[in-house]
Amino acid sequence: MKTAIITGGSRGIGEAMTLKLGEMGYNVVVNYRSDSSKGLTEAVIAKLKTEYGVEGLAVQADVSKYEDCEKLVKTAVEAFGEKIDVLVNNAGITNNAAFCELPRESYMAVLETNLISAFHMCHFVVPYMVKANGGCVVNTSSIGGLMGVANQADYCASKAGLIGMTRALAMEFGKQNIRFNCICPGMIWTDMLRGVNQDEVAALAQSIPMGKIGDVEDIANAMEFLIKDKYMTGQYVSPNGGIYMP
Ligand code: NAD
Repeated sequence: MKTAIITGGSRGIGEAMTLKLGEMGYNVVVNYRSDSSKGLTEAVIAKLKTEYGVEGLAVQADVSKYEDCEKLVKTAVEAFGEKIDVLVNNAGITNNAAFCELPRESYMAVLETNLISAFHMCHFVVPYMVKANGGCVVNTSSIGGLMGVANQADYCASKAGLIGMTRALAMEFGKQNIRFNCICPGMIWTDMLRGVNQDEVAALAQSIPMGKIGDVEDIANAMEFLIKDKYMTGQYVSPNGGIYMP
């Protein structure tokens, strides 16, 4: 049986990725952070079992913290064994605030949640992949990691940092058959957008060459591609409706 770990896997893009991993036949360790996400996580895990016949395990951890990541990986290994086939670093937050008014704690939280968490998770998971002589890591970056966005210096830095980390680890572990890639989503329909003024969302959609906002399944499909392809490493794929073209 194959095992995957996903951080921030209970809602939004993470939920779609968790279900896609189930569809692909993986047992999935689904990380969530807050008590309020426990019910959501359990519901996703129930779906893994009923729809795809695979096992799920909910593990609460704040992945910005080294000790929590250690506990998360230890719990995964105890449940499903040392062979971790896939790691998806998906947890992320954003501030959207004027740089000069951004308190230190706020930008540190973004950097630690979006970037340092992936360092911690790779730090604990990659040794198992080395032992198994193979594995695949997918990091959820963003178009914010490819282009500048006003009021998002911390977010853009964290997502660009993920791309740098991905490339360096791909260089270091290529011969051990461990692949590292990023997904850089454009604007995607999640609760965040459902909650804001829909006229503004419609205007935003019109600024995208394809004239529409992407779905969480578009990102889960990109993840599936990166897992299934066996020669792709150190790359990013960017499902973004054409809003960013390098
Ligand atoms: P979301 O807020 O619905 O999901 C983020 C997930 O990360 C949540 O489950 C949250 O609980 C979890 N999380 C946050 N901090 C955590 C922590 N410290 N420890 C563990 N889990 C934590 O948003 P989403 O849109 O689904 O975002 C998923 C990823 O996609 C993020 O990395 C985000 O930056 C990225 N992304 C989203 C979009 C978009 O338009 N929605 C675009 C580009 C990139």
